[in-house]
Amino acid sequence: MREKTLFSRIIEGEIPADILYEDEYCIAIRDINPQAPFHALVVPRKVIPRLVDGSEEDAMLLGRLLLAAAAVARSHGHGEAFRVAVNNGAGAGQTVFHLHVHVLAGRALGWPPG
Ligand code: 5GP
Repeated sequence: MREKTLFSRIIEGEIPADILYEDEYCIAIRDINPQAPFHALVVPRKVIPRLVDGSEEDAMLLGRLLLAAAAVARSHGHGEAFRVAVNNGAGAGQTVFHLHVHVLAGRALGWPPG
């Protein structure tokens, strides 16, 4: 059996986290190493390792992640200016292989991103 991901362990309460939002599809937690004054991770309960591993059957779930990202930004006072980002693969900076959407806000967010 594949080892549980770090985020599955957080979802199951084995590892503590600051949970900002939860619904039947996903949770949002505060990032332990924030890259902005507000930095949340929206994580699906279903383990999809990378965005590229998502399939047609995940279409609704993927939409839910974006809705949750907007909800958590809005509910923390950042509805007018936030960024969502997904790192897909180690070459793009992904370190936890359980899909997650970064939500960053609270500072000027340059473009293009690094
Ligand atoms: P990635 O690099 O895969 O796109 O993002 C993984 C994120 O998970 C990083 O921003 C990192 O700071 C965060 N992270 C790693 N370990 C933990 C942890 O134990 N708790 C929380 N809340 N965030 C974590």
